[in-house]
Amino acid sequence: MTVLELRGIVKAFGDDVVLRGVDLAVDEHRVVALIGGSGSGKSTLLRCASLLETVDDGQVLLDGEDVTDPRVDADQVRRRMGVVFQAYNLFPHLSVLDNVTLAPTVVHGRSRAEAVEEARALLDRIGLADKAAEYPDRLSGGQQQRVAIVRALAVRPRVLLLDEVTSALDPELVGEVLSLVREVAAQGMTIVMATHEMGFARQVADTVAFLDGGVLLESGPPAQVLGEPQHPRTRQFLARVI
Ligand code: ADP
Ligand code: MG
Repeated sequence: MTVLELRGIVKAFGDDVVLRGVDLAVDEHRVVALIGGSGSGKSTLLRCASLLETVDDGQVLLDGEDVTDPRVDADQVRRRMGVVFQAYNLFPHLSVLDNVTLAPTVVHGRSRAEAVEEARALLDRIGLADKAAEYPDRLSGGQQQRVAIVRALAVRPRVLLLDEVTSALDPELVGEVLSLVREVAAQGMTIVMATHEMGFARQVADTVAFLDGGVLLESGPPAQVLGEPQHPRTRQFLARVI
């Protein structure tokens, strides 16, 4: 079953056409790694997929529903997706616990008691139960990103969109965040992640999609795209990053 489908996504900023008709289908419980050079359009694609940007052409389908239809309430749709960026995901003025319980209570209308119980269980799972009362600036970058990921999971999203969640971290903190992503993937979450971590993509992704100049040049199993890239641009890119 396809959870998220992008059809012919076109996006321009002024005269700058950043996405040139991107098609991508993400099946349930699958992990898609989006790779490509800086400026290739990865973040814009994830922002279009999560309706944080409006598309100029094409459709985003969530569980088969065209959510780019102007009659669809974008706020409602965004509640069914979890999005985590490179950095600064957490609300600095809220404790870790309140960060995690905010959307479930305010947006999804769950009871505070239920949201707190679930948040504590999530924090416990990532070994941060003792940080529940702390403010984000008291946490390491890796801890903050792990909280951002469990906060995104707290709304029980249909799909998790991760935009280079480790690229702002000191190298020694990358592993703990990737381990959490690996665990979330193993539990069956549907994930699209823009990443520069090729080793991780190879191990965890079901599909690697290579974006170049706003065009999805090549996609397929990691062994194929990373191991035997067909397109010269993919080979060039991989030669630079691996
Ligand atoms: P990536 O995430 O692969 O590095 P981006 O999606 O961030 O690429 O950017 C793709 C292109 O779109 C870049 O040329 C970038 O400058 C441009 N771009 C992204 N967001 C905006 C924006 N809000 N306004 C104008 N140009 C943008
Ligand atoms: Mg980016």
